[in-house]
Amino acid sequence: MNIKAIKGASVRCENLQKSFGAVKAVDSVSFEIGGSEFVTLLGPSGSGKTTTLMMIAGFEVPSDGDILINDRSVAVVQPRSRDIGMIFQNYALFPHMTVYQNVAFPLRMRGRDEQETRQRVRIALETVGLTGYDARFPRQLSGGQQQRVAFARAIVFDAPLLLMDEPLGALDKQLRQRLQLEVKRIQRDLGVTVIYVTHDQEEALVMSDRIILMNDARIAQMGTPSELYDRPVNKFVASFLGESNMLHGQLDQTRGDEGSMTLGGRVITGQLAAGLNAGDAALLVVRPEKIRLADEHSSIRTNRLPGRVLESIYVGDHLRLVVGTEDGAQLVVRHPIYFGGGDINLGDTVELGWHPADTRILQAS
Ligand code: ATP
Repeated sequence: MNIKAIKGASVRCENLQKSFGAVKAVDSVSFEIGGSEFVTLLGPSGSGKTTTLMMIAGFEVPSDGDILINDRSVAVVQPRSRDIGMIFQNYALFPHMTVYQNVAFPLRMRGRDEQETRQRVRIALETVGLTGYDARFPRQLSGGQQQRVAFARAIVFDAPLLLMDEPLGALDKQLRQRLQLEVKRIQRDLGVTVIYVTHDQEEALVMSDRIILMNDARIAQMGTPSELYDRPVNKFVASFLGESNMLHGQLDQTRGDEGSMTLGGRVITGQLAAGLNAGDAALLVVRPEKIRLADEHSSIRTNRLPGRVLESIYVGDHLRLVVGTEDGAQLVVRHPIYFGGGDINLGDTVELGWHPADTRILQAS
């Protein structure tokens, strides 16, 4: 016997709504998660992540809409009958129980016999790297170890769906990064579906197959980490994930899914977000690491802007430059040292260049 999830559950939320009095915590949220996916609900504090997760778990009742697990509505299914493993930030281990008793608890609740329980707990503890810790109490464990116990308890009964709410939030950065990779590895090995809540964008980018980015109770964008990072649909997404240069202007022309703007007297082209028309106020977005210091030999012919170096900060593997353009805009440039960074001085005149494919044109508001 091993702890092998049958197959990750699919989850579908249809037009979920949740209000607490006058507060709309979740508004018109719809998404579909396939079996064995790792999906993260990401967003700023108060954007509705936990409320969404609690409705899937069955601890909050939706004001409207439906939730289907493996294509069956769970509207009238009690939390304990939803067959979901849960892990929270504060571990929620039983302090008076040993590690063994904590991990065995879900099996006892399900009336599994002693022999099966012993075997499953052993495998679960082995999976999370805690073999030999059976007799300890939670207070005798570090934070990281306690979180591993919580993880073992969530996977011990073969739940096809795990819900995690900021499970690594209380740990220091190094341990958090190690456990991120471990949780991801275990999820992949077990084939279990995970819905994971975090407000840490880096954590979401590292762990997720797909990210559901929430803002103000609604979904701002849903997609793979690279879709959200490279093709943000609006200003909120572009500024929430990573760093972006944003230049205001007017959309001059459109051609298919490309558009052009005039900035500092130069024509800049980029990929258009939906819903923009020529003449609209627009926002040009380009990431600092996509901009090169171009010279006459550069392959980048379009999207070139002259400017002056206003700031240059040495950050080990790159120089962080702030370049001011002729019309007063400022762009941050991440200039890798291996391109030769030693000869860039404050006040230098430079020519910036970046590819249209790395440029997004979004609605200004
Ligand atoms: P955080 O990252 O801070 O945990 P979140 O994105 O998980 O935030 P939620 O906890 O889902 O956000 O809360 C969404 C909104 O609903 C917030 O405005 C919050 O104050 C409100 N809210 C949540 N639970 C309740 C409740 N039980 N009663 C009243 N308002 C609530």
